[in-house]
Amino acid sequence: MTTSVILQSLLDIHATILQHESEIESLDRAIGDGDHYINMKRGASAIVEMHDELADLTPDAALNKIGLKLLSTIGGASGPLLASFFMGMAKVLKEKGDTSAKTYALAFASGVDLIRQRGKADVGEKTMLDVLIPVANRFSELANANADNKTICEALADTAEAGMRSTMNLIATKGRAAGLGERAIGHIDPGAKSCQLMIMTVCNALLKHE
Ligand code: ADP
Ligand code: MG
Repeated sequence: MTTSVILQSLLDIHATILQHESEIESLDRAIGDGDHYINMKRGASAIVEMHDELADLTPDAALNKIGLKLLSTIGGASGPLLASFFMGMAKVLKEKGDTSAKTYALAFASGVDLIRQRGKADVGEKTMLDVLIPVANRFSELANANADNKTICEALADTAEAGMRSTMNLIATKGRAAGLGERAIGHIDPGAKSCQLMIMTVCNALLKHE
């Protein structure tokens, strides 16, 4: 994945977030404090504004800058978590020095692991990790089996969707929704929804622009 595909993906993510305003906002109103859409929009807009300064950077340098920007622009629980994801990815890409699917799978898994450490959360706690951990695992399996990009992208979009849906019937044990007990059941986690949308968007962008 080149810097130009990363930047195209980020433009598309910005558009996807805006298109899903009411859905994301109502999910966080139901089991959080209603600000998740605003947080995501603020982060996505800040990255779109950085487009020109990112264009000449290597993928690792661009992703690291994006992480730093998100740290200072997105508030709430999700800001530092998403920022660590981008910075964790950047670190592995820099160390490996290539842009193969295997390296991206490793970088993705490392970014997700930082979220897990920072958030002290795991699968089944009704957070974004219910999307990100299964996607990281599937990505590693497929990349190690030398699957082509189309197979990987389709599988990851499906895995993200299943993970997002799985949060519906969970009780939250992390984040704001943790105080709701059984009242959180029946609602999809907002962070899981926004991560599913972002993964779907990147998969589509990759297939269109690679
Ligand atoms: P806040 O909860 O501070 O209002 P946001 O509304 O932007 O922040 O983000 C909420 C999302 O953050 C949740 O839907 C959940 O997916 C994610 N989240 C919250 N706490 C954690 C955690 N400890 N680990 C992983 N993800 C978390
Ligand atoms: Mg919130």
